[in-house]
Amino acid sequence: MLELAILGSGSSGNSALVCLGETRVLIDAGLSAKQLCLRLEALGVDPDSLSGIILTHEHGDHTRGIEVFCRKRPLPVYATTHTCAVVSENVNSAVTWRPFESGTQLSIGGIKVESFSVPHDAVDPVGFVFRCEESSIGILSDVGHVTRMIIDHLKGVDTLFTEANYDEVMLQNDTKRPWSTKQRISNRHGHLSNDQTAELVSEIAGPNLTRVVLGHLSSDCNTSELAISVIARKLADSGLNEVAVECAHRSKPIPLKAAARAVAKIYLPVEEKPAKSSRVCEPSAPEPQAELPNDWKQTEWAF
Ligand SMILES: [Zn+2]
Ligand SMILES: [Zn+2]
Repeated sequence: MLELAILGSGSSGNSALVCLGETRVLIDAGLSAKQLCLRLEALGVDPDSLSGIILTHEHGDHTRGIEVFCRKRPLPVYATTHTCAVVSENVNSAVTWRPFESGTQLSIGGIKVESFSVPHDAVDPVGFVFRCEESSIGILSDVGHVTRMIIDHLKGVDTLFTEANYDEVMLQNDTKRPWSTKQRISNRHGHLSNDQTAELVSEIAGPNLTRVVLGHLSSDCNTSELAISVIARKLADSGLNEVAVECAHRSKPIPLKAAARAVAKIYLPVEEKPAKSSRVCEPSAPEPQAELPNDWKQTEWAF
């Protein structure tokens, strides 16, 4: 079964990990090489054991660790042809570039990876769906608005990682950012608000969806509590009360977790119903977060 971990997420750096057995794929490498190694090790993953890196787009908060991380590890780096062209200009290490066209499907080990175009102010940004026989994981980061293509690709996934960048009121009231930056964030090629993400999640949610992980939260214009409450409320309105919603962190990883499919409920005759609940599986206790050194906080970008 596929497993997902988030090494870190936010405007200061983004990286996630999808594993299937011995196949381990890093999605974006926007943390420093040192942080990538520390956080992989904290998850129990040897940095030298990765199968490759796949990129959503070229922005620094998704690519800045590649140069140093790949100096010692000449990994294949998968990205669209246009993204490869831009990123390779700044990477001198012995990377094996594996260009692909947006909209095509790749195989990395036993994982099938579908790519699809997304609207963002980058040369050729993409989202992904990772699939194996038993499960699927959708990955969506840095998207200005939700398109039909995004919904069609992500519909029915078991686990979804998606950005929920800002709260509209907090962004409008923010005094640190000039008007032009606010425009860049909220325009059709910027980032998703909590409300846009909630709309997306309710559109793509199918009976298999068990988990939504929110990422790329703005440090000034959003909070974990607010983002979770907006998305969870929208899911509840659609009758999806049992989908787990959580936020990725900037400075510590979320450990690997299997992308389990929802288990179909068994409807027993009334007299045989269990007294407490009709759920087949009781929710498990929350996983402990990996303890990490305090000096991990990275300098925040302007945005
Ligand atoms: Zn980003
Ligand atoms: Zn970006």
